[in-house]
Amino acid sequence: MTKTLCAWTIICFCTLKLCAQTYQAGNVYVGTKNYIEYDAGNLPIIITAPHGGYLEPLTIPDRTCADCTTIMDANTQELARQIDTALRQEFGCIPHIIINRLHRKKLDANRDMVEAADGSAEAEVAWREWHQFIHAAKKDMVQRYGRGLLIDLHGHGHTVQRLEVGYLLDDPELRLSDSLLSTPSYRNRLSIKNLVLHNNNGFNAAQLMRGSFALGTLLATNGFPAVPSQQDVAPLVGESYFNGGYNTLRHGSRDSTTIDAIQIECNYTGVRNTYANRKRFATELAAALKVYLGKHYFASTNFGCRTATVDKNEGIGISVYPNPVHQSMTIQFEDSMDGVFTVTLYNLQGQIVYQDSMDRQVAMPIRTNLPPLSKGLYLLSLTNKKHTLIKQTKVFIE
Ligand SMILES: [Zn+2]
Repeated sequence: MTKTLCAWTIICFCTLKLCAQTYQAGNVYVGTKNYIEYDAGNLPIIITAPHGGYLEPLTIPDRTCADCTTIMDANTQELARQIDTALRQEFGCIPHIIINRLHRKKLDANRDMVEAADGSAEAEVAWREWHQFIHAAKKDMVQRYGRGLLIDLHGHGHTVQRLEVGYLLDDPELRLSDSLLSTPSYRNRLSIKNLVLHNNNGFNAAQLMRGSFALGTLLATNGFPAVPSQQDVAPLVGESYFNGGYNTLRHGSRDSTTIDAIQIECNYTGVRNTYANRKRFATELAAALKVYLGKHYFASTNFGCRTATVDKNEGIGISVYPNPVHQSMTIQFEDSMDGVFTVTLYNLQGQIVYQDSMDRQVAMPIRTNLPPLSKGLYLLSLTNKKHTLIKQTKVFIE
């Protein structure tokens, strides 16, 4: 094993067992065989992408269960990564991102284990790791903030081009009156039950789903039609609508915890289909989440990146943008450091695919143009002139 491969494998891409369940914001962790990826964060936001994976290992048979869906949600992995970048830019802090890299033919990470893995022991391991990573992220949010929000990100193929925002109520229920929806029999079935019971303004369930400061309303106001929202309170009879699935149910606050969950099913055209549209949506979602969390969850929109404890191992902050990277990237890190720095990119096999040294002025970002590289995940390593490792982080080349 080469030295570079060793660094990649041990420092960044260790298995759950090797990592001993401690996660540092800004680092990337993966489960067995790299099937599940967890980008640990420090914001009270988790983005999960269960249906955006591409891997089709021969060691996992294709799922053939009756009525099982095996079609992936196109570009939702890419969308999750662009939302990651947008949230970092909006908040100056890092969200928790959890991605199922397996194709839905191999694992459906939004079903119970029997349907998700369809009998494959290898897929069952990945399924467990998916939920272990989500639990780790939830635990981190509770420790830092006491509460938080999980967005389960999907893509739908329905005719009406709008976001479908799911809180676990189905479309006939959403057509009920605001006053009825806010009674305990409906309120207590919501994936944001904790938010309904504890929000800054005493808003009821209907206000939180389709009032002025509902997530759907904020997105619709910024150019992304959504249902439910103030503009579109419920699907009409005969219109298709996804109201939330296994992840929203299991990881939201309906049955326990102070972590709320919302499923966002994205339409394709204008949201998922191109890099530019994904970027536009990611930017607006990040802005909407800032308003949403500041309005309902915390004292203001400026709630910072709280730390549970002073963590000396977390090291310096580093940001790479844009990320996903497109031909060139900018790297910014701690203001007081200057001198010659070396940027190295490793691929998933631990091979160096790019390396360059640059002289950095205090507080100035490093900008670098990249050669053509295949699309995918890379490890960026930053070292100083004494070859001491400053920081490693992941970048996605698009
Ligand atoms: Zn989906």
